[in-house]
Amino acid sequence: MQRYFVSGSSENIIFPEKDIFHIKKVMRNKVGDQIEIVLSDKAYLATIDKLEPLHVYINEPILKEAELENDLTIFFPLTKSDKAELVIQKASEIGASKVVFYRSKRCVIKLDQESFNKKKERYLAIAKEASEQCHRLKIVDICGVINLQDIDNYLLDRNYVAYELEAGNTSPLYEELSKDNKSTSIIVGPEGGFEKEEISLLVNKGFKVVSLGKRILRCETAAIYALSVISFMMEK
Ligand code: SAH
Repeated sequence: MQRYFVSGSSENIIFPEKDIFHIKKVMRNKVGDQIEIVLSDKAYLATIDKLEPLHVYINEPILKEAELENDLTIFFPLTKSDKAELVIQKASEIGASKVVFYRSKRCVIKLDQESFNKKKERYLAIAKEASEQCHRLKIVDICGVINLQDIDNYLLDRNYVAYELEAGNTSPLYEELSKDNKSTSIIVGPEGGFEKEEISLLVNKGFKVVSLGKRILRCETAAIYALSVISFMMEK
């Protein structure tokens, strides 16, 4: 069943314009049809009782939970938009709570805050759609752009940096993740990789270097792989 994130209150449920269009014109819903809504991080089964203007009433809460027990953050470099969009969508599906974009020395793309903010609207729409599709209660938070020096504000219980040059000498990510479920963050480098000083800076800030296996992955693959491993361990 289609899920929609709404605002307002249970007496006054407000749908975004795009979703009203979706309900009426794409899904061609009729009076009496049921949909799922998420209001203030809680999901409900609701029935459409009027189409012009759209009005629904709540039937019952939906108790099935799709959230991870702990926060999961991915730090992702500034890249071309298609990679950023892919990572936002997949991070949402895998259960991440935050995607934080950062600048680094070897980022191919240089974006100032204003240009990033323009893209952010589209990024938020992708995150919302992905959360609806996979029946989550939360929409992944999109933050940035930050400089690596300012990463402290986003640190969680345990923080990892994926570094391919240490592969072979460092523990694989999955071995690091013990059974106690803690909030976790991981940073992957840009297409050109991390510079040595950036790794030292992250290690000084408490990040532990981990490997993602024997093969060198593209940054978007590295992000999706790392998030999958962490999500798997959190749900184990
Ligand atoms: N340094 C490479 C490619 C960077 S891959 C080059 O010269 O082109 C992009 C990022 O993905 C890396 O910075 C790292 O964070 C992550 N990554 C990819 N494969 C990895 C692996 N096998 N182990 C750990 N991190 C990896």
